Amino acid sequence: MKKPRALITGIAGQDGSYLAELLLREGFEVFGIERRATLEATHNFWRVAHIQSQIEVHAGSVDSFPSIYSILKKVVPDYCFHFAAQSFVSYSFEDEFATMNVNVNGTHYLLSAIAQVCPDCRLYFAGSSEMFGKVDSSPQTEETRFRPRSVYGISKLVGHELVRNYRESNKLFACTGILYNHESPRRGLEFVTRKITSTAAQIKLGLAHELRLGNIDAKRDWGFAGDYVEAIYAMLMQPTPEDFVIGTGEIHSVRNFLEIAFGELGLNYLDYIIIDQKFFRPAEEHLLIADPNKAKSKLGWRPKVAFEDLVRMMIRADYDYYMKKR
Ligand code: GDP
Repeated sequence: MKKPRALITGIAGQDGSYLAELLLREGFEVFGIERRATLEATHNFWRVAHIQSQIEVHAGSVDSFPSIYSILKKVVPDYCFHFAAQSFVSYSFEDEFATMNVNVNGTHYLLSAIAQVCPDCRLYFAGSSEMFGKVDSSPQTEETRFRPRSVYGISKLVGHELVRNYRESNKLFACTGILYNHESPRRGLEFVTRKITSTAAQIKLGLAHELRLGNIDAKRDWGFAGDYVEAIYAMLMQPTPEDFVIGTGEIHSVRNFLEIAFGELGLNYLDYIIIDQKFFRPAEEHLLIADPNKAKSKLGWRPKVAFEDLVRMMIRADYDYYMKKR
């Protein structure tokens, strides 16, 4: 029997890499799109290096319609997972226009190309809790009103509306996962969790001496990325396309994260932390917390890795990494 074909945009990123592993386990043929610049620098491929011989990655850019169109023509996927985006909220304050262009056009081009080339292909769009922004109720469900407070959040909301419109007007099987922060040892170093675990590991090994952070009282609903790709997969296996909120339903502060991460190495974070205004955000929301009950009841999904175990998993991975590198 022919294997189902899945195309992942942003396959070399955190979510792309975990999902590629899952799809290979499930017997899919896995294809990816990555920018030529990413492909050329092999260090960008560290998250998928162990499965590189099992995946086929095409050089292309989601902000070019011809590029997406020609890759879809070649691959003709049954499933498409759209992760490629400018995903770091801080950069979206610095470069609003690029964030908007890549995130909105990338999604629009992909939807339009799928509708033309392979209208039966099922599409997953990576939405974000940042779409909720300045919330007036917590926790948030699929029904909560969106009021984004960052250009990143706005760009994701536009993508979400485009997905809804193609689902309703073009009858595409397309849905949005509204995912809360999800972390792992594969998280980018610019995100606060990985910044903490990589720096704490380096401090322990004498490779760094301080950690500069912004608002450490900020709170997030943090889960494990490996759990979240299971929800993403389950969404596209549903009989009908629907949007889902995916998160743990628990919030923790950056301070909690610091305590556990440094504590795991026998250190006290207060001895190393420097609060730096440079890392504060212009508009910060505090009550973003998921109500994942729809995902629980319809997808049978539950987060498996608890917060403390996630922090430990990340700190151990970083410690081992810098230990070997030293
Ligand atoms: P985000 O939720 O996608 O913005 O994820 P981040 O990991 O970038 O940020 C999570 C929270 O940590 C935000 O509330 C930040 O304000 C806070 N934070 C505090 N210090 C830092 C820092 O130095 N870097 C980052 N990235 N976030 C920080």
